[in-house]
Amino acid sequence: MQPTFEGPVRVRVAILGCTGSIGMQALDVCRQHSDKLEVVALSAHSRTKELVAAAREFDVHAACVTDETHAQDPVLGELPSDCELLVGPDGAPALAQRDDVDVVLVAIVGAAGLAASHAVLKSGKRLALANKESLVVGGDLLMPLAAPGQLLPVDSEHGAIYQCLMGENPREAHCIWLTCSGGPFYGRSISELAQVTRHDALAHPTWNMGAKITIDSATLMNKGLERIEAMHLFGMGLDRIKVLIQRESKIHSMVEFVDGSVIAHLGASDMRIPIQYAFSYPERWGTPAPRVDFRTIGQLTFGAPDMEAFRCLKLAEAAGEAGGTLPCVLNAANEIAVDAFLRDELSFTGIAEVVEACMDAHDRSDVVSFEQLYDVDAWARAHASTLVAARG
Ligand code: NAD
Ligand code: MG
Repeated sequence: MQPTFEGPVRVRVAILGCTGSIGMQALDVCRQHSDKLEVVALSAHSRTKELVAAAREFDVHAACVTDETHAQDPVLGELPSDCELLVGPDGAPALAQRDDVDVVLVAIVGAAGLAASHAVLKSGKRLALANKESLVVGGDLLMPLAAPGQLLPVDSEHGAIYQCLMGENPREAHCIWLTCSGGPFYGRSISELAQVTRHDALAHPTWNMGAKITIDSATLMNKGLERIEAMHLFGMGLDRIKVLIQRESKIHSMVEFVDGSVIAHLGASDMRIPIQYAFSYPERWGTPAPRVDFRTIGQLTFGAPDMEAFRCLKLAEAAGEAGGTLPCVLNAANEIAVDAFLRDELSFTGIAEVVEACMDAHDRSDVVSFEQLYDVDAWARAHASTLVAARG
């Protein structure tokens, strides 16, 4: 009898938010490691043309269009004939729970990713989490659901810290040095920041990302959100999560231990590396990106952030320290304010002002349920929108 040769078992991946910056880079990782990864399900909000192209390339079993206004786009008729099509916001969590999926990358932007992250953890599958807003808003409810090794952070700093802590006793960690490029406006005063335009803010020095996180990186709200994300992931107080300006973005973060030893994670500024690691863990596969020749870098520079000029960093600290529903308000108000800035309806410094006014108007309570978070999120969005309109 002829022996049968079965191919290696591939990890079956769902990518939620596949048309974004992280989503497209994840597809590239899957393309480069097609012997190890099989893409089986994809979601996109509105860019149905790109969704269909990816669904056809990877011959997926299921696709989802989360924005219902795009449900009738003619291009959807070109999905593979056996590909199931889901429509609406509930479709993303539904994809996450499919039996034919092992790992779910949540690469949706904003608090819209929370329901999907929750669904993945509940289903017992691995959560490769790019969507930091999920943890900022719902960390109190999500973290207790995550088994050891189930939640792999894709955010480059958090992926780095995860690796620095591997094999270590977490109680022997003294602090985290969370690195930050400083963004395009590093060194500017608050009066200079008041003048910057959307065009200036969208030009990030070291990373090429979606519009929302690019603005968050310019206001440093991104780093504020990341401190709260790290607080949940690594169970440390914010006082032990220190922001370190590292202009070259080559050190992705560091952990300092009680004995004074510091372990740093370095590498190329390429999100495909942390995305791939969240898929391959605990293995390491061949690099998806060009390697760094450290002899050519010249120097690595360090500095402290200016918490007064970059108010969002301070607001995020206040929200993280208070905890409860306040980070949810911070996040929702920021999403509305950033959107308004991107439509030229709010100034750059107006972003922090709107976020602060929403936080001031909110009565913080402990987080008890996802429904409560959705209500607080909706209130904060409505309040922030009113504030933006009133400034108009
Ligand atoms: P992006 O704007 O490029 O892509 C967002 C994706 O989410 C798109 O596929 C879009 O279709 C989908 N989406 C948008 N609104 C949605 C909604 N309401 N419901 C469901 N899906 C929706 O964003 P990005 O830069 O890829 O970032 C995605 C997430 O990853 C963010 O949470 C961001 O903070 C995080 N992240 C990004 C980077 C990066 O380099 N881009 C790095 C670290 C973390
Ligand atoms: Mg990051």
